[in-house]
Amino acid sequence: MQVMLLGMPGAGKGTQAERITREFGIPHISTGDMFRKAIANQTPLGMEVKQYLDSGRLVPDDLTIRIVRERLAEADAANGFLLDGFPRTLAQAEALDQMLRDIGKPLDVVLYIHVPQEVLLSRLTGRRVCRACGATYHVVFQPPQREGVCDHCGGELYQRSDDTEEAVRTRLEQYAQTAPLVEYYRERGLLRQVDGEQPIETVWSEVRRILLSIGG
Ligand code: ADP
Ligand code: ADP
Ligand code: ZN
Repeated sequence: MQVMLLGMPGAGKGTQAERITREFGIPHISTGDMFRKAIANQTPLGMEVKQYLDSGRLVPDDLTIRIVRERLAEADAANGFLLDGFPRTLAQAEALDQMLRDIGKPLDVVLYIHVPQEVLLSRLTGRRVCRACGATYHVVFQPPQREGVCDHCGGELYQRSDDTEEAVRTRLEQYAQTAPLVEYYRERGLLRQVDGEQPIETVWSEVRRILLSIGG
């Protein structure tokens, strides 16, 4: 099963992705996570993309497309995958179409998690992430059992450097480049819209039902 998550920053893509991978066993391919890992490990890629992530601007298409192409060629992607945060521009969407044609793995569904823009700032500034396993929390909407500690692995929770008000504002402006993808996938008959303003578990039951119905 080939699934894509689409939605504004803070819509809940990563939160639903954790549940989808757990239940359906497909690898979670998040370009944001890949970039953050490269930055933490101070690799050449990390050095190159750090300025973009810190400010909330999009990483250039050629670089982003290349890392996704390499990731999709890994063995675990042969039986399906979950794309989260890619594509974010029309050029990326077109490159993805070509890649998926090349490997003979067309998309089954694009889950568009829709939320009104007003809720995003509080979601993003309250977000906390596990440094060890990447699990996502929220100080109010999804608090861990012990403050600052991951429920899954005991790792330390931190606040992303781009979850500040200033970087969030830039990221929401950059979303203008991603918004056209909603129509792009709707025209291709792949889009399924989910109301992301509902509680996390309600969103999850809708997402789960859609994925089961397409034969997960
Ligand atoms: P995205 O990956 O789309 O940027 P996340 O999944 O990281 O979004 O969610 C952003 C923040 O909002 C996180 O702190 C998460 O815990 C919280 N969150 C996610 N979904 C919901 C929801 N349905 N209701 C309330 N808070 C949510
Ligand atoms: P969020 O969960 O808040 O939507 P992500 O973790 O997906 O954020 O992305 C964080 C940052 O990584 C973006 O602001 C951007 O700088 C970079 N990034 C991630 N995916 C892409 C992409 N497909 N194209 C360009 N930049 C990207
Ligand atoms: Zn953890």
